[in-house]
Amino acid sequence: MTAPRPSLSALEQHTPFAARHIGPGPGDRAKMLAQAGFGSLDELTAAAVPEAIRTDGPLRLPEARDEAAVLAELRSLAARNTVLHPMIGLGYHGTFTPPVIQRNVLENPAWYTAYTPYQPEISQGRLEALLTFQTVVADLTGLPTAGASLLDEATAAAEAMALSRRVAKGRGPVFLVDADCLPQTVAVVRTRAEPTGVEVRVADLSGGIPEDAAERGIFGVLLQYPGASGAVRDPRPVVERAHELGAVVTVAADLLALTLLTPPGELGADIAVGTSQRFGVPLGFGGPHAGYLSVRAAYARNLPGRLVGVSRDAAGRPAYRLALQTREQHIRREKATSNICTAQVLLAVIAAMYAVYHGPSGLAAIARRTHRYAALLAAGLREGGAEVVHGAWFDTLTVRVPARAAAVVAAAREAGINLRLTDADHVGIACDETTTRDRIAAVWRAFGVPGTDDLDALDVRTPDALPPALLREDAYLTHPVFHEHRSETAMLRYLRRLADRDYALDRGMIPLGSCTMKLNATAEMAAITWPEFAGLHPFAPADQAAGYLELIRELEQRLAEITGYDAVSLQPNAGSQGELAGLLAVRAYHRANGRPQRTVCLIPSSAHGTNAASAVMAGMRVVVVATGANGDVDAEDLRAKIAAHADELAVLMVTYPSTHGVFEEDIAGICAAVHEAGGQVYVDGANLNALVGLARPGRFGADVSHLNLHKTFCIPHGGGGPGVGPVAVRAHLAPYLPGHPLQPAAGPEGGGTGPVAAAPWGSAGILPISWAYLRLMGAEGLRTATQVAVLAANYVARRLEPHYPVLYTGPGGLVAHECVIDVRPLTRATGVTIEDVAKRLIDYGFHAPTMSFPVAGTLMIEPTESEDLAELDRFCDAMIAIRAEIDRVGAGEWPREDNPLVNAPHTAAQLTGEWTHPYSRREAVHPAGVAPESKYWPPVRRIDGAYGDRNLVCSCPPVADYAAD
Ligand SMILES: *Cc1c(COP(=O)(O)O)cnc(C)c1O
Repeated sequence: MTAPRPSLSALEQHTPFAARHIGPGPGDRAKMLAQAGFGSLDELTAAAVPEAIRTDGPLRLPEARDEAAVLAELRSLAARNTVLHPMIGLGYHGTFTPPVIQRNVLENPAWYTAYTPYQPEISQGRLEALLTFQTVVADLTGLPTAGASLLDEATAAAEAMALSRRVAKGRGPVFLVDADCLPQTVAVVRTRAEPTGVEVRVADLSGGIPEDAAERGIFGVLLQYPGASGAVRDPRPVVERAHELGAVVTVAADLLALTLLTPPGELGADIAVGTSQRFGVPLGFGGPHAGYLSVRAAYARNLPGRLVGVSRDAAGRPAYRLALQTREQHIRREKATSNICTAQVLLAVIAAMYAVYHGPSGLAAIARRTHRYAALLAAGLREGGAEVVHGAWFDTLTVRVPARAAAVVAAAREAGINLRLTDADHVGIACDETTTRDRIAAVWRAFGVPGTDDLDALDVRTPDALPPALLREDAYLTHPVFHEHRSETAMLRYLRRLADRDYALDRGMIPLGSCTMKLNATAEMAAITWPEFAGLHPFAPADQAAGYLELIRELEQRLAEITGYDAVSLQPNAGSQGELAGLLAVRAYHRANGRPQRTVCLIPSSAHGTNAASAVMAGMRVVVVATGANGDVDAEDLRAKIAAHADELAVLMVTYPSTHGVFEEDIAGICAAVHEAGGQVYVDGANLNALVGLARPGRFGADVSHLNLHKTFCIPHGGGGPGVGPVAVRAHLAPYLPGHPLQPAAGPEGGGTGPVAAAPWGSAGILPISWAYLRLMGAEGLRTATQVAVLAANYVARRLEPHYPVLYTGPGGLVAHECVIDVRPLTRATGVTIEDVAKRLIDYGFHAPTMSFPVAGTLMIEPTESEDLAELDRFCDAMIAIRAEIDRVGAGEWPREDNPLVNAPHTAAQLTGEWTHPYSRREAVHPAGVAPESKYWPPVRRIDGAYGDRNLVCSCPPVADYAAD
């Protein structure tokens, strides 16, 4: 007897995507629920999530669809974007992503699913790539110390302003900005200046520094090189005068231009900032791209953001790691001068590899070709009677066509080219790597000039338009890395070699608390490199971005539904920037209501460092609220602080569930108390993975939150960025969301507060990822994902509890979506530290959990819903085995200074030398549960961080250093 044939409609039921996204299937879930002591997911969440905050009904989201259907929907959205050739300029340029880099970095999970390289032993590949990025920036800008990326050019300029204010001798309030700076940079600088009492003065500095500004007192100057208009001016007179006045000079410079022009460092600049977008990074309607910042040697220790340095490992061999880690600004909380945390690692890697691929001569050739096209374009325009405004330029022209600018721009658009409509009388045209002879001819036609068919003859008779006094003469990018990987075979293998050194989600679990390292599904990633999404200029006319605008509107609406807020802005390009935008909205709201004195921001001591740093940047005064023994906000202290600051209270900033991984029972009461005192409530939404579909912050009392799309909503971490940190608000704060000077549609009616990112919708290019996640999961899938995330954390907590104390629990002894385990008692008893445990996990094939946050000496574990039971068990088994190893140290079986924990991680190279340890080679590298055939080998031994901080090396070291031993 054969079984009855299933019906066609039964066969048409595809496996729902949620079953792919969520690791544990029904069988696994049943086992995990049994371990946690519950009969169903609903039972568990009913016990874990406080009744008072639970949502009433299902989320109103469109029905989930399968991968094929969602990809088809994305295709039709993409088809509604029109990609014209982008000659708008303004800091965004056409570029050709070398396919070997696109496929093997941008589209390769070995790169994009990695975490920030806080565990350097398992991050050597991306650390080397970032060091290469720093070398590119340092060499091209002529300033020796460059950070490992900032969020974009405009925020980098704002960071430079803050840095200048700290280090300048000139104590005046003025930050002087040249009128030829990029308009979005000026706008972001203004946003960031206002709350901190900086006066931004925008002036035409081509004639020098205005005397009245000098008299008022200038601490910093910002120049653009070349300017937004395309003009290349010699900055030296301004630099010299600024230095006389005690001001620090920042030059925002175009990296491609710097292959031909004298670098800012050589012209006396103290700081250089900019973007590396045109080094092979797709436009993506505005981002993500890696901003850069480099400084003279004296300011190396004042850099915002992350800095990669060279140190040495336990064998004395060179190894990379994040230098001066506590200098990561946000870690210093209210003493921080920058809130930057997530940056743009993946994009910095792409830019660095673009430089490796082309080498200095290739880059210079691209720059020269770009310049020649601009020169010939100008020659043809001039011969045809048009007025090219400037005498010297690199790639961008400003052309004067009285009253005809709109007509010219329209004619170019007809020919498939976007030009910049500067004003009624001026058109901007930017050439780039992708410019061709045909496009030059099309631009001539749009201007109504004859041009020439014989471009080669025009070439012969047209001189360069680079100022002779500013031609670059020194050698740059001389390190062998920029010369050795010219063939695609060599490049492919170099990329593979780097990727192989790193541990990312494509190898195993990364149980980092607060970071939500969940699945980044391939179907979610697919659309970001489609040309219709990747090729759009951020200032392209809105009618060319209909697909993007629809996707953005839908994503905003769906995030509003999920969070219970009324309005969402997708502009902030990291969580930290969402925090700032949210706090600026609170500030603007109080001011609009006649309460400018409300500037106190209450923050629990357990908060993420960015919270306090953002509050200071938003002009607020941080008052710390104590944490009770159970990990909750200390209610009594909170009430006392509210009372003490009642008239000045601006906002309470809390993370929910708390950074201790607990659903606090009384969150609604806390919100009410703050409101009663006239304050606002900010809920840091980085932990939304514990709430989606179960509770909505906008409905349980909060006024504003930021979300991290690179945590809860599946944008991969990229090894430390990109991110998207949307800010979500209730209606009364909606008028104060960020706007944008070049794209009013990106902000609320009335314009909102100033922009917090260079591009109108921030990192629009990666929004298809989160859009796809929501579309694939639907309301039911999202809710189940949250429930399984909570289940997984409780399962891990239960399994580890007999071996390590679980520090905090909420209702019913349950944790939320993560758990904190305490290693301090073991450290006291045996000398084994959390660092030893973290490094030993590498030998077992794992990335360590979050270390010492929010409590020193603890590990915070967030398994997420995406890890299946086998992987959860493999992790728990490893942690339990490590506990047994700690006990052997405690029992004196292994000496404190020579055991598998203090010596971890172990490399393959170690095995071939003399073996003097009191444990075997097998115990070292193949401890229980590690399958030899799928072993991950760290490329270096434990890295000595202190050595690297004492001997700061932040660009590619000479190869000879590696020849040792
Ligand atoms: C990750 C995180 C942030 C900061 O987000 P970034 O995108 O890294 O700037 C803020 N708060 C909490 C609780 C976080 O976990």
